[in-house]
Amino acid sequence: MKTIAVYPGTFDPITLGHVDIVSRASPLFDTVILAVAASTSKNTVFSIDERVELSREVLKHISNVEVQKFGGLMVDFAREKKASVVLRGLRAVSDFEYEFQLAGMNRKLMPEVDTIFMPTSERYTYISSSLVREIAVYGGDVSDFVDPKVCEVLKSRFEKSTEKKS
Ligand code: ADP
Repeated sequence: MKTIAVYPGTFDPITLGHVDIVSRASPLFDTVILAVAASTSKNTVFSIDERVELSREVLKHISNVEVQKFGGLMVDFAREKKASVVLRGLRAVSDFEYEFQLAGMNRKLMPEVDTIFMPTSERYTYISSSLVREIAVYGGDVSDFVDPKVCEVLKSRFEKSTEKKS
């Protein structure tokens, strides 16, 4: 039987931390599906299609990774894809409480699928999409945190928004 892992998130935008998790998970499963959440309580900078497209571009070198969007409940998406694993990254103890709660809820909703946590590589522990966005808004250099393609898109997005305001 094929083992399919779903790695869900907002990916607004995808960072090198996310790429690290996917790269390390890809040899462990037949397929890793990076599942980009369409409906999220977060106010995203990038639209769902932009987040999918950027993630696809950045992960295209890994052959057993697919990028797909999902709406509604992640558990329904995981079931539809016949996934046996939900993958989540852990950066610090502060991530743990929320992630543990989420895993518990998901287990209740979908006992046949287990959550696997991957600790981030040390060099990426401090990277988050929200900090990358904050730095990019003020024209800061985010090239150490995201793929060059993401860097370029962030630059043009925020150059445009600053032009509009001025
Ligand atoms: P969400 O909105 O679901 O938290 P994110 O896109 O912020 O979505 O993150 C998706 C997953 O990636 C989460 O499990 C998160 O803990 C993990 N993650 C985020 N940043 C990093 C990083 N720098 N290193 C490893 N994992 C990360």
